[in-house]
Amino acid sequence: MESREHAIVVGGSMAGLLAARVLTDHFAQVTLLERDTYPEGPADRPGVAQGRHLHVLWNHGLGLLEGLFPGLEQEFVERGVPDLRLPADLLWLTSQGWRKRFDGVSRLLTFSRGMLDHAVRERLFAHERLTVRTGVEVTELTASRGNRAVTGVRWRERGAHAIAQPMDADLVVDATGRSSRAPEWLAKLGRPFPDETRIDPLLGYASRRFAVPEGFDADWRALYIQAGAPLHKRTGGLFPQEDGTWICSLSGAGRDYPATTDDGFLGFARGLRHPVLYDAIKDAEPLTPIVSYRHTAGHRRHYERMKDWPAGFAAIGDSVCAFNPIYGQGMTVAARSALELGRMLAEDRTTRWYQQRAHRAGSGAWLISTGEDRRYTDTQGPPVRAHTRALNAAVDHAVRAANVDPVVCGRLIDALGLGVEPTALFRPGMLRRILGSRNVPLPDGPPPVIANPEARRRTSRADAEAR
Ligand SMILES: Cc1cc2nc3c(=O)[nH]c(=O)nc-3n(C[C@H](O)[C@H](O)[C@H](O)COP(=O)(O)OP(=O)(O)OC[C@H]3O[C@@H](n4cnc5c(N)ncnc54)[C@H](O)[C@@H]3O)c2cc1C
Repeated sequence: MESREHAIVVGGSMAGLLAARVLTDHFAQVTLLERDTYPEGPADRPGVAQGRHLHVLWNHGLGLLEGLFPGLEQEFVERGVPDLRLPADLLWLTSQGWRKRFDGVSRLLTFSRGMLDHAVRERLFAHERLTVRTGVEVTELTASRGNRAVTGVRWRERGAHAIAQPMDADLVVDATGRSSRAPEWLAKLGRPFPDETRIDPLLGYASRRFAVPEGFDADWRALYIQAGAPLHKRTGGLFPQEDGTWICSLSGAGRDYPATTDDGFLGFARGLRHPVLYDAIKDAEPLTPIVSYRHTAGHRRHYERMKDWPAGFAAIGDSVCAFNPIYGQGMTVAARSALELGRMLAEDRTTRWYQQRAHRAGSGAWLISTGEDRRYTDTQGPPVRAHTRALNAAVDHAVRAANVDPVVCGRLIDALGLGVEPTALFRPGMLRRILGSRNVPLPDGPPPVIANPEARRRTSRADAEAR
């Protein structure tokens, strides 16, 4: 890149914030253009509708964010963000049975997405070389040299019908998420639409915040009841938040969408593979309405295959690769890609090189999530290949072994959190452990949850009367 005067980031959610952070190391001026206005404090906003659902960070992702924003982890501690010991604090029903509650294997942070974004924005927006413009939408790219190089964007006030104005830049980064219009923007510059792989498990989420019932007593801090594909399509998570409340996110694949009525939500929870989550929330006081989200299809835009990818343009985050969110990997992929963007600039590489690296940054998450999606017969996408079936069978063995062997458990969690490649699960030492634990009995299910004994007695009376 000949000049490093000005870079523009389009979209100021997690991928855009992380990209902007990296670009401030390399450009004299960085402008972040965001369609929404940001809330004053740690709150949800319309442009990140998924933020009202459960968001977690695995250990690896947390390390990447801490590397970009030193001190962030300490801030989480001060804000009361639950730091779960995995799997000790998590009652976890996997597709292959209950997981033993080993201590010291890994950790997981669970928080409201509004809090995370706010903490990151506060750190980033203090940067002197960054200008943030909110309430503006980018409509297209501008280009020169016979459209071989992007030279900026056209933007206008959100909702205004005025003609969009140009803003010049040496680099434009698209971070506009799943509904990115970058393929159309590139088409206007004469590029063919990129190849795209779409795998859609027809998954829907519904979530609600609850107050933890008074006197609630359990030996777990969080619950995760996973689906058992292909027959059991429902997953439920109940996780603590930084303000001491619970968030409950339910999801169903194959159009088995959780309902958004009070009874429907509870009924869906009762239909999970174990009633422990239902038992925990049925007497809990709801704090929010139930919200739903169904925009979950996996897509992978193959920008890495485009030979005439323009100079001066890069795409990051869900705009490039978005997948079933159930494994909590999207922000880690965004962080990995942001680091690749930094490498591109530090090593003076091309944006085409970067898109190839961004593709790789999403590969592990894509393999894991789409591999699971393909277990459901309703999932829409290209035909399931034999090697996907073989891999899924191997994964089942690994998951079962991870339920009883802390070393395999650690490796599996590292793979889910993208700290190691998924193939690291099947290195010889691991394979020996996986095979060696085949006959180790699985732990029993949990004892019934004793919530507030008073509430429990009231509910039993109400149940008896209803009968
Ligand atoms: C239900 C659900 C749960 C999830 N849970 C997790 C989790 O536990 N852990 C995890 O790591 N990830 C999770 N994810 C994924 C995570 O939310 C995303 O990967 C992450 O937000 C990064 O996305 P992004 O920044 O690329 O895009 P988005 O978050 O979609 O943001 C796009 C931004 O671009 C702006 N924008 C759009 N168009 C324009 C325009 N034309 N001009 C200007 N601005 C524009 C939008 O307003 C928005 O701010 C989850 C996703 C879903 C759907």
